[in-house]
Amino acid sequence: MIVAMQESASEEQIQQVIEHLVRMGFSVHRTTGERQSVLAAVGARIDFDTRNLEVLSGVEHVHRISAPYKLAGRSFRPGGTVIEFANGLRVGGNEVVVMAGPCSVESREQLFTIAELIVKAGARVLRGGAFKPRSSPYSFQGMGLEGLKLLREAGDHFKLLVISEVMEISQISLMLPYVDIFQVGARNMQNFNLLRELGKEKKPVLLKRGIAATIEELLLSAEYIMAGGNYEVILCERGIRTFETSTRNTLDISAIPVVHKLSHLPMASDPSHGTGLRDKVPPMARASVAAGADVLLMEVHHDPDKAFSDGAQSLYPEQFSKLMDELRMIAPAVGRTIA
Ligand code: PEP
Ligand code: MN
Repeated sequence: MIVAMQESASEEQIQQVIEHLVRMGFSVHRTTGERQSVLAAVGARIDFDTRNLEVLSGVEHVHRISAPYKLAGRSFRPGGTVIEFANGLRVGGNEVVVMAGPCSVESREQLFTIAELIVKAGARVLRGGAFKPRSSPYSFQGMGLEGLKLLREAGDHFKLLVISEVMEISQISLMLPYVDIFQVGARNMQNFNLLRELGKEKKPVLLKRGIAATIEELLLSAEYIMAGGNYEVILCERGIRTFETSTRNTLDISAIPVVHKLSHLPMASDPSHGTGLRDKVPPMARASVAAGADVLLMEVHHDPDKAFSDGAQSLYPEQFSKLMDELRMIAPAVGRTIA
């Protein structure tokens, strides 16, 4: 951490800041320039709040150099994390993994129809919400346990892995036998109790970015899961809320290379929630792969006009298979293949 003192700072004020840093466990190196003193504080502590220094008298500016997370940071595993599943599928390696399916599990017939069409087009993971975080309490809330059973059945039948959203701690044990990946939704990114519990499990977690969360906050949320011993975390950009109203959210594609630089964790992109409109999904999916996404998470429905949730952003079957063909051409241009 670098602490720049004001030009007018007195020697007494500088000494007080040095003493404060030493009390916090830092060793301090002072550089006295012509006009200003600069303190370089070196230490292993990462849980400090720079504002505590900013408010001390004589301090002009505090700059943090080390990241406030350690397990999620790139330096923890410079080569990157690859999550390997029992069926050989790898997330975070050279292959881009496509996860697709309906927003919500609605019925056996619906799920099997969609699973069949996504597997034919080349997806490897079936998505579908059994517990749904809906903005309105009057909207469809999901099929619950029945939906989880259907997901597992369809996954096994079509040799697809299964991902579904966990909304609260009590659902973790219920979901364990049925899902291969836990999804933590945007609304729960900072549900720290839930994250801590997921850290105790030996099952990968796809953690979505909150609608108003910074990338640093996303990485700190991943740190909660990893601190419990579960290092198999996939981060996911799903659009953030901005002043723009042309799309449901603003898909921050730049988060993909930013996360890849800051973290070793695989990075997913969800252009369905990121745009909210199905005609915008293929271009944003193509852009995400070009930008280095390790995973695409997309909503597909055989009859989106009748979908119980998120129909407007769900791809038609033909759209999805055309997109998969395009992705198979784009991926090699950036040194990847589609799993
Ligand atoms: C979903 O995947 O259907 C979902 C609810 O996503 P998000 O948490 O990104 O809104
Ligand atoms: Mn949805």
